[in-house]
Amino acid sequence: MTKKFYLTTPVYYTNRAPHVGTAYTNVAADVLARYHRQKDEKVFFLTGTDEHGEKIAQAAKEVDKLPREFVDKISDEFKKTWSVLNISYDKFIRTTDKEHEEGVRKFIFQLKEKGVIYQDKYQALYCPNCEDFVQKKDLIDGKCPYHGKEPELVSETNYFFKLDKFLGPVKELIEKDEIEIRPGERKREVLSMINQDLGNLSISREKVSWGISLPFDEKQTVYVWVDALLNYITAIGYGKDESNFNQYWPADLHLIGKDILKFHAIYWPALLLATGLKPPKKIFIHGFLTINGQKISKSLGNTIDPIELSEKYGVDTVRYFLLREISFGQDGDFSIKRLGERHNADLANGLGNLVSRVLTLSERIKPEEKTRGELTPKIDKAKKDYQKAIEGIKFSEALEAAWRLIGDCDNFVEKNKPWKLDKDSEQFKDVVSELLTAVKEIALLLKPFMPETAEKILKQIKENKKAEALFPRL
Ligand SMILES: [Zn+2]
Repeated sequence: MTKKFYLTTPVYYTNRAPHVGTAYTNVAADVLARYHRQKDEKVFFLTGTDEHGEKIAQAAKEVDKLPREFVDKISDEFKKTWSVLNISYDKFIRTTDKEHEEGVRKFIFQLKEKGVIYQDKYQALYCPNCEDFVQKKDLIDGKCPYHGKEPELVSETNYFFKLDKFLGPVKELIEKDEIEIRPGERKREVLSMINQDLGNLSISREKVSWGISLPFDEKQTVYVWVDALLNYITAIGYGKDESNFNQYWPADLHLIGKDILKFHAIYWPALLLATGLKPPKKIFIHGFLTINGQKISKSLGNTIDPIELSEKYGVDTVRYFLLREISFGQDGDFSIKRLGERHNADLANGLGNLVSRVLTLSERIKPEEKTRGELTPKIDKAKKDYQKAIEGIKFSEALEAAWRLIGDCDNFVEKNKPWKLDKDSEQFKDVVSELLTAVKEIALLLKPFMPETAEKILKQIKENKKAEALFPRL
C-alpha cells in the first residue's frame, strides 16, 4: 500500500499580505511535500487562509470594505505569492469556504453531544491581536509580549470546552511521542505549559460577528482559533467525505511557528480527543525570522514582499537561502546582503560553475549513462546524509550534504585535470561520465529545494548541451 503523507502549514491570517516570514513556512512545507512525492508517497499538502475574527472585520472597516471583499483580495495575494514561489500545495483552504463552515458547526455540535461544553461568565484580559485571553503574569510592562499593546478587560457569557479533562491524556501522548513535538526544547516547553494551570478554553464569542455561528446558539460565533484549527480536518472532508477523511487523517505533520505552539500542541489534540478523533502525529515548530536583525513588523516598515524578492533575485535563490542560512528549528536573521553572498558563493560559483564545467567537457563525448568509480561512495554518502537530514526536518544539513558532493566533484576535477587528457581516450570518457552521474544526482537532491534549477540541469544533461548560466552573479 502506498504510504500517505498529510502535511499542513498554518492558515495565515488575512489581516495583512504575505511576507517573507510566511513564505519561510510555506517554502519549507513545499520542500517536504516534493521530497515525499519523489518517494512515491501519496502526499496531501494543505495551506490556506484564516479569514474570520474581529481583527479582520476591523482591518476591512479601516479601508472601507466589507469583510468578505477584504479577505477575497488578501487570500488572492497569498495564492499569487505561492504561485510565484512554486509552492505545490494540493489544496488552498479558506475558513470562509462553505464546506469548512459546515464542518466547524458539525464539530462543535459533536462537542456538545459529548457533554464537554458548558456556559459560563468570563472576565479576563484579552489581546485582540492574539485573538486570545492573556494572563497577567505573561505581560511585559502590562503589555502583550507579542504585540506590545495593553490588553482589554472583557466580560461576557461564553461557551467553554472542558479542556482540563483532556490535559492528562494529551500530556501522556506527548511524553510518549505519540504526538511528536520537535525540536525537543519545544516538547519540554509544552509539557511545562500543561503543568501550569491553563484553565478551560472559551470556544465562542458574543461580540464577534464576523465568524461562524454556533449550531446551538446563533448569537455566538466560534472562537476564531477553534475555527482555524479545524481547517486541518475540514479540508480533507470531515463530516462530509468519510472515506477521504479516513484516508488522510491523522495529519503526519503540522508545520508551525513558535507563537502558536499552545494552540496546536495542547488545545488542538484535546479538542480532537474530546470527539474521539486521533491527534496529529507530529508537530514541528520553526523559529522566527528577523530582517537585518529587526523583528518583522508592519509598523517598522521592514516587511519584504516575497514576490518582489523573487523577481529581483530569482525564485530558487530565495528558496535556497531561506532554508540554507537558518537552522529550521531556531530563530534566524534574513539579510539581503547574506542572500547576495550565498547566491554568488554557493549558487553561481559552487553549483553553477560545476554544472557549466562538466557540460563543457561532456559536449565533446557521447556520455555513458552510469559509471562506478571514485565518486560513487561520495554520492552514496551524500544521499544518505541528505535523507537523514531531511527526514529529521533539518533543511540546512540536507543542503550541506549536497554541497559537500559539489566540493567532492570540484576536487575530482582538479585531481584528474580532464582538460589535459586526450579527448578520445577512455580515461577522459570515464572522468566525464563519472562527473555527469554525480551532477545528475546533485540535481535530484536539489529538486525539492530548487525545482526549476534542478529541471534545467537535468534537461542540459539529457540533451548534453550547455545552456546559459544557471545563476548569473549578482
Ligand atoms: Zn497579543
